[in-house]
Amino acid sequence: MKIQADVNIGLVGHVDHGKTTLTKALSGVWTDTHSEETKRGISIRLGYADIVFRKCPECVEPLAYTTLEECPHCGAKTEVLRKISFVDAPGHETLMATMLSGAAIMDGAVLVIAANEYCPQPQTKEHLMALDVIGVKDIIIVQNKIDIVSKERAIKSYNEIKEFVKGTNAENAPIIPVSAQQGANIDVLIESIEKLIKTPERDANKPSKMYVARSFDINKPGSGPDKLQGGVIGGSLVEGTLKIGDKIEIKPGIINKKDKNDWVSLTSEIIGLNAGGKEVEEVGPGGLIGIATKLDPSLTKADSLSGSVAGKPGTLPDVLHNINMKPHLLERVVGVKDETDVVPIKLKEPLMINCGTTTTIGVITEVKKTVTASLKLPVCADVGDRVALSRRVGARWRLIGYGIIQ
Ligand code: GDP
Ligand code: MG
Repeated sequence: MKIQADVNIGLVGHVDHGKTTLTKALSGVWTDTHSEETKRGISIRLGYADIVFRKCPECVEPLAYTTLEECPHCGAKTEVLRKISFVDAPGHETLMATMLSGAAIMDGAVLVIAANEYCPQPQTKEHLMALDVIGVKDIIIVQNKIDIVSKERAIKSYNEIKEFVKGTNAENAPIIPVSAQQGANIDVLIESIEKLIKTPERDANKPSKMYVARSFDINKPGSGPDKLQGGVIGGSLVEGTLKIGDKIEIKPGIINKKDKNDWVSLTSEIIGLNAGGKEVEEVGPGGLIGIATKLDPSLTKADSLSGSVAGKPGTLPDVLHNINMKPHLLERVVGVKDETDVVPIKLKEPLMINCGTTTTIGVITEVKKTVTASLKLPVCADVGDRVALSRRVGARWRLIGYGIIQ
């Protein structure tokens, strides 16, 4: 069976609505393919699980959908449909930057909404807006905790959800009642994901581009220089392929010690690859991957390269210290109980800017039809790329819209 996942699906939604339990319902109880840490520690813990969807050749839909090798209804051997990498996004409001970084690598998303609470809760709304802003279009809604609500409340919750998604990317999303805790209706959810969230077409001829989400020094403290292993980066390939032996460039890289405004990209060689928790020779898009390099591990330790972009030398976008963008702002600041209007972007104000898996702060230096931001940390991005914009409201960064780099 294919080792690497075919597609990345985000699990988003308000804290405690059941994202982690749903991942368990899909993986732990229902499957034997939960990926583990690997010997070399290349596997990435971004809160994710690779899960294989299967179908029984004998049973009718939706009963035929399962993650088990043996059909729970008739015992027949099931057939593999796809391997899916679920990215479990954090629901706490302080983790919005992580959520936005995660959304950059999502091909589709499952929005989990608990039926026993009024919809929308602040982060339900904020996460759906984030999907809108990042441009994640294939969305399925799970109406969770259906086991603890009355029929009346279930219908009321359904109507609240319908009203809430009007005018968003999720307007026509299916709403699947589920009990993640009891494992009820999981087959219908699998069917819905199979039918709606398609594996994106990948152009293998495009230059490879990886969003780096993590980076590590995998050496034990005190390892002798003879045993020292090179730096490791983890993330998701959004285009192209990479194989062992390829040269690799990582941008923006590191600050030039002599000139603080200058960054030097890092180049190395790929000496190991990991996908779905296993060593592989070659990787393509889908799931989270780990790359072992010959880089000095002090350069990769403690996520120091997270947010950068990696690919073959000379093929990556430019490093931008200033970005000029066309802003598209939301009407209201979401994610707070008392919503306020989003006022236009102001000169000199700082915004949090998420571009791919990078989080940076940009101070606005010019406001015309487009706005220009001077970035604290440069980004490696192309014209036409979408960036998420958040403003400080009270003590937190709140999503206010997106910009398209000009
Ligand atoms: P997350 O913050 O979205 O990841 O939520 P968790 O998966 O951690 O779930 C929060 C709490 O809700 C836990 O105590 C779960 O056991 C419970 N829970 C999750 N799904 C269900 C469900 O379908 N039914 C019931 N009754 N409880 C659930
Ligand atoms: Mg959780």
